[in-house]
Amino acid sequence: MVKEIVCRDAGYDCDFEIRSESEDEMIRYVKEHVQNVHGVGMSSDDIRGAMKTV
Ligand SMILES: [Zn+2]
Repeated sequence: MVKEIVCRDAGYDCDFEIRSESEDEMIRYVKEHVQNVHGVGMSSDDIRGAMKTV
């Protein structure tokens, strides 16, 4: 099952999006992205909550 996270859905003016079958991989990438680009921290639970099934 492929999941997707779109940064814009979280209210950011940002074109980052990621699709993966691996939740762990997505969590790693999204954590790094929001930290580096938006300067905020997201918990793994926050990120899981933002995932949509494609
Ligand atoms: Zn972003």
